[in-house]
Amino acid sequence: VIRCRAAVAWAVGKPLSVEEVEVAPPKAGEVRVKIVATGICRTDDHILEGGFPDVEFPVIPGHEGAGIVESVGEGVTSVKPGDKVIPLCIPQCKECTFCLNPESNYCLKAHLSEPQNLLPDKTSRFTCKGKQIHHFLWVSTFAEYTVIPEYAIAKIDAAAPLDKVCLLGCGFSTGYGAAINTAKVKPGSTCAVFGLGGVGLSVVMGCKAAGASRIIAIDINKDKFAKAKELGATDCISPHDFKKPIQEVLTEMTGHGVDYSFEVIGHADTMTAALASCNMNTGVCVMVGVVASGSVISVDPMLLLCGRTWKGTLLGGWKARESIPKLVSSYLEKKFNSDLLITHTLPFAKVNEGFELLRAGK
Ligand code: NAD
Ligand code: ZN
Repeated sequence: VIRCRAAVAWAVGKPLSVEEVEVAPPKAGEVRVKIVATGICRTDDHILEGGFPDVEFPVIPGHEGAGIVESVGEGVTSVKPGDKVIPLCIPQCKECTFCLNPESNYCLKAHLSEPQNLLPDKTSRFTCKGKQIHHFLWVSTFAEYTVIPEYAIAKIDAAAPLDKVCLLGCGFSTGYGAAINTAKVKPGSTCAVFGLGGVGLSVVMGCKAAGASRIIAIDINKDKFAKAKELGATDCISPHDFKKPIQEVLTEMTGHGVDYSFEVIGHADTMTAALASCNMNTGVCVMVGVVASGSVISVDPMLLLCGRTWKGTLLGGWKARESIPKLVSSYLEKKFNSDLLITHTLPFAKVNEGFELLRAGK
């Protein structure tokens, strides 16, 4: 058993509490990882706010980390102690019918099919003050050591800087892949990205890499525009600057709507606005933002009847275990610069300050 620090969410609506926890050794098929760095994704904040009733408290959140294998349980063959790894919030078991389908990146062991509040044997490896603490998506990267099933771990290049490539565990890969894999943005096309957080800015990078000729970035926080431009946005607009709905503004700007639109906020109203912003016949709208569970979106069916496509994406469509290591290699070959997404670097004890910066739009 390892004693170390972890940020525990004891109850909905409470700040994280950095505590000493006990982390049990990995059982068969599991890997214990020393987490070196973790990002903060808005999804973690949705969890703290209680947006997902199926996440059980107390819990150690965090799902965008990178670390080093400390020890492995019986039967683990794909990683060994000392390997650099990225924990995967969407596993890839390589055995289920979804994993065997080349078109799918959703593994049937993922949380929408099977709760990941406990490890697959339905027990926890975390305790704190004598209480069992839940895992989050099996990765719980807000802990100095965490235990993860082997099929939710990707071994990455030993040269990778963990404090940078941790972003490839969720935010960057999700946004970049939403443009490249899910929308399949074509060269010369026009794109609109709603929401310029870490994930939305990664969509901008993906659209640019795919050769889009016009990328319209939309946010109510204009402080986000400089970075969006640096990453490839050609126009930046705030819905607050217009009297008419943003979808009408975008249709006027482009003639018949954009070729690809992306909602990267997580609100029902911006999801319908994004859908209505793309070309009525050939447009593709990708839903990236996560709405609180139980939310319902009402849309005019005519929006789809004319031919538009409305899609969602999980982790940008990447088959995680095989694709994240390749993305890390592309990072090392400087094919993209996800370092530009890093705004602040804080010591672990200041994790709540990180959330305050996220909520303040900084
Ligand atoms: P973030 O909070 O950093 O960014 C959201 C941005 O949207 C902010 O810049 C905010 O100012 C802007 N915004 C808010 N309301 C707006 C409005 N009405 N119009 C225009 N802009 C508005 O969040 P993030 O970490 O970038 O995550 C974005 C979303 O993606 C979240 O909902 C998150 O849960 C989701 N997400 C989904 C996946 C996936 O696999 N599908 C993965 C990671 C994150
Ligand atoms: Zn995330």
